[in-house]
Amino acid sequence: MRKKLLLIAIFCALILTLVVGAMYKYLMSQVYGEEQTNFEMQVEKTIKTEFFDRDITQIEESKSGDNQYNKYYLYYSATENKNIIKQLEAQTQVASKQLKDSRSMVLSYVNEEKVNDALINRQLVTKEYIWDDKTKSLKYLGELKELSEILLSKNRNEPRLKDIVNDESDLLAINRIVQEQLLSTRTKLKSTIDEEELDQVLTNDFLSKDSKITLLPHSIQIAFDKEVLGVTKMNVDTEKILPFIDPAIVSDNNLPKKSLDQKRNYVALTFDDGPNDTSTKKLLRELKKEKIKATFFVLGQMVDKNPEVAKKIVGEGHEIGSHSYTHPDLTQVTLDKVKEEVLKTDKAIFHATGVLPKLFRPPYGAVNGAVAKTIGLPIIQWNVDSEDWQVKNKDLIVNKVIDTVENGSIILIHDIHERSVESIPEMVSQLRKRGYEFVTISELLSYGQKPLNQYFGLADQREIK
Ligand SMILES: [Zn+2]
Repeated sequence: MRKKLLLIAIFCALILTLVVGAMYKYLMSQVYGEEQTNFEMQVEKTIKTEFFDRDITQIEESKSGDNQYNKYYLYYSATENKNIIKQLEAQTQVASKQLKDSRSMVLSYVNEEKVNDALINRQLVTKEYIWDDKTKSLKYLGELKELSEILLSKNRNEPRLKDIVNDESDLLAINRIVQEQLLSTRTKLKSTIDEEELDQVLTNDFLSKDSKITLLPHSIQIAFDKEVLGVTKMNVDTEKILPFIDPAIVSDNNLPKKSLDQKRNYVALTFDDGPNDTSTKKLLRELKKEKIKATFFVLGQMVDKNPEVAKKIVGEGHEIGSHSYTHPDLTQVTLDKVKEEVLKTDKAIFHATGVLPKLFRPPYGAVNGAVAKTIGLPIIQWNVDSEDWQVKNKDLIVNKVIDTVENGSIILIHDIHERSVESIPEMVSQLRKRGYEFVTISELLSYGQKPLNQYFGLADQREIK
């Protein structure tokens, strides 16, 4: 009898446990399910809110993932670039993984905003939301914004250099800036640059109008047509190439403009045919004393003979330009010879000073279209000739300059003649008395001087055809 009662008791306990368990399970699923429904409703609501003021017709394709609790959604236009979709998916997966153990939502989309008439800013946005048990609501956690890219409105896929420059001279100017940046980056990595590397940078035509570019908020990434120094692309600050690109594509309106004060008068002193070991050094001392920055058009062969003087020119803040290697009339030699003269001088200047010349003064001022194109640098002529090499008398040199100078003049002098250097103190004093300030050529031309153009003075720029 007792045994029977015990069995009944155990049986009842078992039944009770099962019933309570089932009830508990039922109740829990009620609550939990309701919460899940609630969650899904809020997911829907959030998506609607998020896209409320967006052009919904642009969203032609969407993908969503769902492991019941963690949901992710991707929105993009069906015409979107495949690489962009891949990146968006990858970005979404990263966020989804982080949130996989909680009831959460990841919402990704391609966001495009107009920057100005020519540009749109495209961003891959991934927003994260998590379910808050206390408030029973979907809480915004934060967002990832990867790859902010500025594109041309007219050509949204893979813009090229030709889309942002006006002409070949802009392209040549950018080429020199890139060459210089390549070399300075290299110098930071290793102290010396060998001949073969220098040749690669100066002769390998790695940039063209068809080079692909990526417009970034403050810089432009240029993909090279071929590898140079093991590099295939480079970021160049927009500010650096500002004068050579279409202003409509510049999204930064606050870039500093390097221009002269219109109310003041300026001249640029330029010294040719050096450097030598005697009068050039004397001139440098004089310029230092007078706190004047000038421009030196050096001969490659002289730089190779006096590299320390060339280094001093750059070190003391003067501008250095090329004046060829051996001083031939470049219109009377072959273009291969022109190329050689230019290349040898570039190398000599770079070895001695660590910089590349950005200006060129052809010997005797002799230049034509083909020569200018081969040189690839802005051509700097003059409108005040001191005739110092001829007169060799310091008073006559000063008088000649004073008689012909005007605002924005480029003054031609030769630092290899003792008399010329001796004329400088008086010349400077007379020019100052007349209100002139001294600037380098780049300063005079507001850093906007272009290849395939020649400059005789601030107000006299001529295209070379
Ligand atoms: Zn000369």
